[in-house]
Amino acid sequence: MTHRLTEANLLEVWEGGLGGTAAARSLLLASLAAPAGEDVADLPLSTLNSLLLELRRGAFGDALPCTTDCPACGDSLDVSVAAAELRPPPGSTEGGVDGLLPVTATLTTGGVTVTFRALTGGDVRAVDPAAPRARRTLLRRCVVDVSPPPADDVPDEILEHVAGRLAELDPGADTVVALTCPQCAHRWEAALDVADQVWAEVCGYAHRLMHEVHSLARAYGWSEADVLAISPQRRQFYLEASAG
Ligand SMILES: [Zn+2]
Repeated sequence: MTHRLTEANLLEVWEGGLGGTAAARSLLLASLAAPAGEDVADLPLSTLNSLLLELRRGAFGDALPCTTDCPACGDSLDVSVAAAELRPPPGSTEGGVDGLLPVTATLTTGGVTVTFRALTGGDVRAVDPAAPRARRTLLRRCVVDVSPPPADDVPDEILEHVAGRLAELDPGADTVVALTCPQCAHRWEAALDVADQVWAEVCGYAHRLMHEVHSLARAYGWSEADVLAISPQRRQFYLEASAG
């Protein structure tokens, strides 16, 4: 049983995400698409992205709007991208994690063996990106075991080795999309943050919906609940009729 994003809960979801950080909003949205009772904070970032894409497909369709500037000629590009066109950035191994729980990997450097796991949404939420040494704190959370145990905490060099391996442990944590400029035919890959994208769409939809409530409440004296209970098609009719 999965939940969805609908007009009935969209304003509540938007309100719930307003005060939070980007990481908290990502978890809030992913939890709507996750099986009931599943703690999405424990999921690796690629699984969160899949949940977010599933959620937005149900609410907004498969095509993601993508607006950016061509890095070669500066022309602005406004295209739709199918969710299936999103892929891990170059350098991360294809395939990766199928399961819902982070799997671990090990690496050996300078005689030290480190066992580490993929970053989860909960890790990202727990670390303030503006805090001193935020990157270290985040990477440290991925380390499950160090053998032999270090006298002090895990050295930075080892954490940087871990950082270099995280993408192969969770290839879909970051996503890029291949673009071609219609003006100059330049081809490049642009990073697309799924959580930011879905949140921007939720905000846009919430604002349109509230404008409609405002207009119809003023025209007909209906309450917010009255307006939200009317289908989008009927609302459109009444909006046009009341404006004419
Ligand atoms: Zn161009």
